Amino acid sequence: MSVHPLTAALLSGQRRALARAITLAESSRPDHLREAQQLLAEVLPHAGRSLRVGLSGVPGVGKSTFIEALGLQLADAGHRVAVLAVDPSSQRTGGSIMGDKTRMPNLTVHPGAFIRPSPARGALGGVARRTREAITLCEAAGYDVLLIETVGVGQSETQVASMTDVFVLLTLPNAGDELQGIKRGIMELVDVCVVNKADSNPAAARQAQGELAAALHLLTPRTALRQPQVLQASALTGAGIAEVWAAVKAFTADSVRVQARRQAQHSGWFEELLKEAAWQAFEAGVSAEQLRAIRAEVRAGTLTAVQGLAALLGGAFMP
Ligand code: GDP
Repeated sequence: MSVHPLTAALLSGQRRALARAITLAESSRPDHLREAQQLLAEVLPHAGRSLRVGLSGVPGVGKSTFIEALGLQLADAGHRVAVLAVDPSSQRTGGSIMGDKTRMPNLTVHPGAFIRPSPARGALGGVARRTREAITLCEAAGYDVLLIETVGVGQSETQVASMTDVFVLLTLPNAGDELQGIKRGIMELVDVCVVNKADSNPAAARQAQGELAAALHLLTPRTALRQPQVLQASALTGAGIAEVWAAVKAFTADSVRVQARRQAQHSGWFEELLKEAAWQAFEAGVSAEQLRAIRAEVRAGTLTAVQGLAALLGGAFMP
């Protein structure tokens, strides 16, 4: 098989080639999918050399303002910055948090930046695959900072945390209300917490910083290698943005730990796909009728779950 026509252009960092490669990987056409997999295989040796930063927070917290401010600082300093989004809501509404590039007008036109809207179709699992592949493609194109944004709606944070080196949560100065709104499961993912809009109410922001630091401290096991950091910033004025970046760098300075996190992520992703594929293969080989009947019996309690499994698969699969 000859080398894919996009490979050379992608590796030389051409934005158009990168955009087309991501479009291939997002397509649901089988021939596009095959092409995308070939391309990914060819560029994989050139991927992996970026800092992958996940960012989340409720709508209105200032994510796009923050990402633009941070992205501009980094791009001006010579970094190549790619912004990706994971937006589960876009499947329902057809819209997307990143669909409107005017959200980051200055970053969009910066030659050192690449902004990609969220893939709009498919299940969350599908979005996760597409985002992972977009990460690889951006890295192969030479982007060394990846900012991966998601809205604060639950499952998408877990997804983004499972594909990034450091997870940043933006919050508002009203921490008391905030703390109730942020699910414990999400707090456990946080490496760096930023009280944004500190300019709007400095006293409340200071208080929020203290409360969030205490809450995160309680959640972090004492064996953890590093405590989450809580900082204040203003995406609007730019105050504190450099400090947030310093905290992100400090968090990821230990390359052994970053590698360990990535290896665990790769394995986790593989196991997830394996389970999905195994389930699909199993489902294809079993009669839907029989499966339905056994499920009904298990539900009614006339079969235990284990008996149901044995009835379906035979004794070999008994736990
Ligand atoms: P997103 O929905 O999380 O992407 O939030 P946006 O970035 O769109 O910001 C929502 C609103 O908050 C906009 O009107 C911003 O101008 C404003 N905003 C964002 N960051 C700050 C900040 O640090 N201070 C103040 N005062 N306003 C901000």
